Amino acid sequence: MSTLTADEQRIVDAAKGFVATHVVPQVQAWDRGGADTRAVLPAAAAAGLLGIEVPAAHGGLGLSFGCKRQVAEVLAAADFGLAMSVINTHNVANHLARTAAPAVAQRHVPALLSGQRTGCTALTEPGAGSDFSAITTLARRVGDEWQLDGHKAWIVNGTHAEVVVVYAQTEPASGARGIAAFVVDGGRSGFVRQPGADSSAARGIDAGGFVLQGYRAQADELLHPPGEAFKAALASINGARIYVAAMCCGMVRECLRVASAYGASRHTFGEPLHGHQGWRWGLADAAIDLEAARLMVDAATALIDEGRDAQTAAAQAKVFATRMAGRHIAALMHAMGAEGLREQYPMLRHLAAAQVATLVDGSTEMLLDRVARSLRHGV
Ligand SMILES: Cc1cc2nc3c(=O)[nH]c(=O)nc-3n(C[C@H](O)[C@H](O)[C@H](O)COP(=O)(O)OP(=O)(O)OC[C@H]3O[C@@H](n4cnc5c(N)ncnc54)[C@H](O)[C@@H]3O)c2cc1C
Repeated sequence: MSTLTADEQRIVDAAKGFVATHVVPQVQAWDRGGADTRAVLPAAAAAGLLGIEVPAAHGGLGLSFGCKRQVAEVLAAADFGLAMSVINTHNVANHLARTAAPAVAQRHVPALLSGQRTGCTALTEPGAGSDFSAITTLARRVGDEWQLDGHKAWIVNGTHAEVVVVYAQTEPASGARGIAAFVVDGGRSGFVRQPGADSSAARGIDAGGFVLQGYRAQADELLHPPGEAFKAALASINGARIYVAAMCCGMVRECLRVASAYGASRHTFGEPLHGHQGWRWGLADAAIDLEAARLMVDAATALIDEGRDAQTAAAQAKVFATRMAGRHIAALMHAMGAEGLREQYPMLRHLAAAQVATLVDGSTEMLLDRVARSLRHGV
């Protein structure tokens, strides 16, 4: 486990308090689509969770990636959707604080840090997911402004985010070279929100999309010019892969805790489930793989915090952790028999989330390719 400073440990402890008070009592209502996750954002802000990596000069805490990773794991143990929602708003605040024009950062960062507004980052389109360089949302210069036209889909916080980082193509068919990034205001004319994704797996995560129809971005809302946006997206994606892997660890840890407690109370053939070797070995397998995944996440986290290349380590950690989560959450649910299917337990929710985790921030196949490419330089 990477070492946290006393300030960072306080934030991780605050995340645990936030989860117990504001998340655990609500997860079933969120899962049924009957409550709005945004209602807890001011409490997340008060716990410091929206400003972890944001520079102090912009009102954030200026803490490490390792701290955010630990918080991500704590939040996802309770609810992956809420964890992704909080971390994505945090990331937009951090992105704008570090790269936006001062007036643009000043307009958005305080509202994101306080949880009054939410943020999202939109690369994916109905016609382009894994192949990011194939996006067709078009950005055309019109005088001093940019006009954006296109369609984004499957975006975390897409059902409500007001501060939107949009990646768009400035020169059709030029691939990565022509891609630029803009800060888009979800309340401005030309931004048309679409209904949320029609999937129970997307509910807590508030995944949705929007259409840009003649949307006008001001010159200072260009965040990364053509030629730099693609590189900027790749620069931040290693961290995203690592915290998604950490979230998978949090979900498995919670399912292991729940199944283990159930195994002590449920009796079959005159013994608690724990008394049956064939039953408890499944839990031991989960505990061993969880430990291995956490060590991989730790190693990749240390590379990010040391400013070193984390591409391969991040890809390895995410592939291993997402597979581990899919396999063991299903097995831990099975270990509770029919009871494991009940809404009061996290298994079904976390299983759907583990599936989402295999796609976001680089699908398993894209990451396997990344690892395979690294092998050309030797093992
Ligand atoms: C709940 C949710 C939230 C999301 N949030 C965001 C977000 O906030 N921002 C954002 O920009 N995107 C987001 N995404 C989109 C996500 O990044 C994409 O789903 C992902 O990139 C895969 O793209 P796709 O779904 O279009 O699959 P496709 O690209 O169509 O691929 C389909 C399948 O084929 C595989 N495949 C594709 N190409 C190859 C190949 N060359 N070799 C082998 N296999 C291949 C893929 O791995 C996948 O399994 C989200 C998705 C979900 C489900």
